[in-house]
Amino acid sequence: MLENVNEKCAVVGIFGHKKASKLAYFSLHALQHRGQEAAGISSSDGEKLKTIKDRGLVMRVFNEEKLATLSGTNAIGHTRYSTAGDDSILDAQPVFARYDLGEMAIVHNGNFTNADEVRSDLIKKGAIFQTFMDTENLIHLIAKSEKEKLVDRIIDATKRIEGAFSLVFLSRTKMFAMRDRYGFRPLSLGRIANGGYVVASETCAFDLIGAEFIRDVEPGELLIFEQDKAPISIKVFEPIPKRCIFEYVYFSRPDSKVFGQSVYQMRKNMGVELSKIAPIKADMVIPVPDGGVPAAIGYSQASGIPYEMGIMRNHYIGRTFIEPTQEMRDLKVKMKLSPMTDTIKDKIIIVIDDSIVRGTTSRRIVKMLKEAGAKEVHMRISSPPTTDPCFYGVDTPNKDKLIAANMTVEEICEFIEADSLAYLDSDSLLRSVNATEDNYCTACFTGKYII
Ligand code: AMP
Repeated sequence: MLENVNEKCAVVGIFGHKKASKLAYFSLHALQHRGQEAAGISSSDGEKLKTIKDRGLVMRVFNEEKLATLSGTNAIGHTRYSTAGDDSILDAQPVFARYDLGEMAIVHNGNFTNADEVRSDLIKKGAIFQTFMDTENLIHLIAKSEKEKLVDRIIDATKRIEGAFSLVFLSRTKMFAMRDRYGFRPLSLGRIANGGYVVASETCAFDLIGAEFIRDVEPGELLIFEQDKAPISIKVFEPIPKRCIFEYVYFSRPDSKVFGQSVYQMRKNMGVELSKIAPIKADMVIPVPDGGVPAAIGYSQASGIPYEMGIMRNHYIGRTFIEPTQEMRDLKVKMKLSPMTDTIKDKIIIVIDDSIVRGTTSRRIVKMLKEAGAKEVHMRISSPPTTDPCFYGVDTPNKDKLIAANMTVEEICEFIEADSLAYLDSDSLLRSVNATEDNYCTACFTGKYII
């Protein structure tokens, strides 16, 4: 089986602005939480495309000098999430190609579920691949398509792929933005105050560059950006919305509007629901920063139990989840989170986190709080047990590493050494985000995969 390493990322596209690459750069800063391993931008000056990409944070990859070489009014950008896969620079995006119609660059957030099949077929027909990224399949499909215009080739190619994709394409003169028919991953459209358009994975990018939210790119929709024209919309696929509920639980930034709703408000609602289904008498509610903050505020407001800052987070250390070995992950949790000893000593504490994946973080947190003198530690999780891996673009480990796939809630509680543990149930989660199982993907909690 081929390894796919193109997942859980952020994409951005800027069209028709004289500082396109700079705006793409600022947008990538706002979207950094969606991927810290690599970053890249391609820009077009109408005649040529230029790409700069490298491993590392946006701030490390770019500087004033490099950005100045990315000239032109159109640009696309990407931040890539760290995975256990190949970390070669070749696997950074945008993916650039020269083909018979000219030049193009692509950025992709999501995961093609039939990538291996498509790739084997392409290889049999003589294609040569440079990376493990499923996005490269798309380049070959576009290059091989017999249609005359790029837009028709994009449609042709995307009909061959299945799975989750929010894509932005850049040609020498045009930009294209597209979402798969399920709309798993978000993609929003905005208008830049002093001219031009932006598409981005999350609207927090719009706020930073002074753009106004227009609407989401619809599931199954392709938007074409051409000079001096409003974006043209084509319905490529009949939409079957199955938005990713985990975007609300963990992935998106609270100041973003995702799938048309405020992420902050959705997370607060989860906290309110959690306080109803798993109440307990305590001296304070504290969040695991930063993910647990909005739900802890919701829990506190609904229960009347004071909200306190009980854990300090060191913001200069990356996410703990991304380290490949268990040993490294343990060490990183210690470096990242410290107890506010004076606040929590001798207190009964409710700790709110958004999810438990392997259990490392919760176990370490409970231990740390107890060592700092907390009398009782009650863990409350603002989503249901994560029992199944995601094949549509969120980095979750295999089932054997997912603690909730292998232990009951009581067993997990024992493992993390908490005085009690409770999760939000599926119905309460759906209610919190105004969703139904029909229009949201809940596979990571239910194992119900649509494809
Ligand atoms: P773990 O220690 O494996 O149980 O990880 C749980 C922590 O990771 C929680 O604090 C979550 O906020 C966070 N988390 C959950 N899902 C992800 C993900 N896909 N990528 C990175 N971190 C995550």
